Amino acid sequence: SSGRSGGLNNLDNGGAPDAKNLRVKLVLLGDSGVGKSCIVLRFVRGQFDPTSKVTVGASFLSQTIALQDSTTVKFEIWDTAGQERYAALAPLYYRGAAVAVIVYDITSPESFTKAQYWVKELQKHGSPDIVMALVGNKADLQDSREVPAQDGIDYAEKNGMFFIETSAKTADNINQLFESVSVQLSCSRKLLSD
Ligand code: GDP
Repeated sequence: SSGRSGGLNNLDNGGAPDAKNLRVKLVLLGDSGVGKSCIVLRFVRGQFDPTSKVTVGASFLSQTIALQDSTTVKFEIWDTAGQERYAALAPLYYRGAAVAVIVYDITSPESFTKAQYWVKELQKHGSPDIVMALVGNKADLQDSREVPAQDGIDYAEKNGMFFIETSAKTADNINQLFESVSVQLSCSRKLLSD
């Protein structure tokens, strides 16, 4: 039955016995400037256009992924729209989220520290079965890298999170990020319903 997992709802699947259509609230967290909006635009529109900043307000962008086992996952993606400065608003923002994508910039150690703050915050206040992904973005800027990939890998492993490095600019690993999250969701969904 639906509703056991925060933000994860089983929609009418049109009668196909094995099909599962999941609708998922996904929130993006991370310092301003790490590339959250660019990641969403790359995923949803296939573009890299830093000038057309998404202003979501009370709304969100959505994108559906089809998995091999005929599950579809419709992501309702919430971007902070600059609200990362107002920590007090955060619980309203990630309430009901099934997925949190926590982004840092591999050229910015400060943003990596901030990402760890968000992980702790979600461990305290998020849904207990939230799927968390740690994302090191701007992986195209290898020459300016200041956060070793291994640091991200180690931190993610300690905290039971999925880890990936992406580039919204070159599109590297952007689809893989959302596909991996989908697979994890559909697995935890199976565990719930079996
Ligand atoms: P947000 O504040 O986290 O939403 O960050 P934005 O998506 O607005 O991006 C901030 C800046 O980083 C913009 O100038 C983007 O052009 C740049 N940016 C975002 N993603 C990448 C990336 O993968 N590589 C590079 N080189 N720049 C990026």
